[in-house]
Amino acid sequence: MVVSYPQTSLENDAYKIALEQYDRAVAHANLDDNLVEYMRYPRREFIVNFPVRRDDGRVEMFTGYRVHHSTVMGPSKGGLRYSTAVTLDEVRALAMWMTWKCALVNIPYGGAKGGVVVDPKTLSLGELERLTRRYASELIPLMSPMMDVPAPDMGTNPQVMAWIMDTYSMNIGYSVPAVVTGKPLAIGGSEGRTEATGRGVVVCMLAALKYHGITRTEGVRVIVQGFGNVGSNAAAYAHELGFKVVGVSDVEGGLYNPNGLDIPALLTHQKAVGRIAGFPQAEVVTNDELLTLPCDVLIPAAMEGMIHAGNAEKIQARFIIEGANGPTTPEADDILNDRGVYIVPDILANSGGVIVSYFEWVQDLQAFFWGKSAVFENLERILTAAYQTTKQTAEQLHLDMRTAAHVTAIQRVANALATRGIYP
Ligand code: GLU
Repeated sequence: MVVSYPQTSLENDAYKIALEQYDRAVAHANLDDNLVEYMRYPRREFIVNFPVRRDDGRVEMFTGYRVHHSTVMGPSKGGLRYSTAVTLDEVRALAMWMTWKCALVNIPYGGAKGGVVVDPKTLSLGELERLTRRYASELIPLMSPMMDVPAPDMGTNPQVMAWIMDTYSMNIGYSVPAVVTGKPLAIGGSEGRTEATGRGVVVCMLAALKYHGITRTEGVRVIVQGFGNVGSNAAAYAHELGFKVVGVSDVEGGLYNPNGLDIPALLTHQKAVGRIAGFPQAEVVTNDELLTLPCDVLIPAAMEGMIHAGNAEKIQARFIIEGANGPTTPEADDILNDRGVYIVPDILANSGGVIVSYFEWVQDLQAFFWGKSAVFENLERILTAAYQTTKQTAEQLHLDMRTAAHVTAIQRVANALATRGIYP
């Protein structure tokens, strides 16, 4: 097989990781080499440099990206990230993962991702709105409910989605709620979307524990790295179900209490002071230390590449449920698999977000809205089915769950591609 790579510096680890995971999976997927080569490439990539007027009158230039990795199964779908770490290669990796994630959970979307190189904490609310609206207007030719549908990711939130929806709608001439998901409820958002990713992580944790004969939650110790939308909602739901959340962290550092943290109190504290630091009755630890503390389940819900060859050996958890995208490098995968650590991969474990985004899009298109229990019931049904399919593939082909998830997803996209044929 001829293995080539899209033209890239390959400097960004996330993209190297995404391509390596792809190569590992296609080795077991029994696919036509032509299709293997096709799916390696992003369909289209957009780079835009745009001005934003700061509150003091200065005009500053920003760079934004949007990559549509695949549109084979439907509109491309994926979040929009505001971070100084955003690069084209990172966005390419995240877009590719969205393709596999949507295919794995069987929702009719391709994969995309976008990002703007900015630290949103350095912007006033007005600057954030102007940056978002200008970036959104640059994206208009590339997005629509049937073409590409953005959503929140790191550094963005429902308000940012509301500005994107409004910018698009004002330009089109009428309200188009389905152009973006993760919107506030007032403008066509879905019940349960905010909690969806974190909740889905916990649903996958329950499935993984059950598969290993553990059906109780009491006394099962959980550590969550990252206390943004995904980590905080996962910790909250795990706590609600009776798990003992012994450690959490945000960008500034971590907290550890072997007797369990009072997560509702921690959430109240975080809301009041904007960080988890300063919360009483917990030992202060670094983000690195947190990952290797004693626990049964580790939920990385921060950034890519947090679990690597340098710390994989020291991880004490028996289960890793990936809330973040790309938190584990392939080298760390090898070490952890050898040690018998059971990993539920990102494209399965954190798919709750895009699953409920799909429900939001369906509700917007039908102009008919569901209650929260219908959202959560359908979320669990889809996630559990995807977990079972992945587990079966893993058992049949003697693969780890990450490779099995990728094989399942890649085969689905390849099958659709082969059925549609190569145009012209
Ligand atoms: N940003 C989320 C993810 O990485 C959600 C994407 C979406 O809802 O479209 O899965």
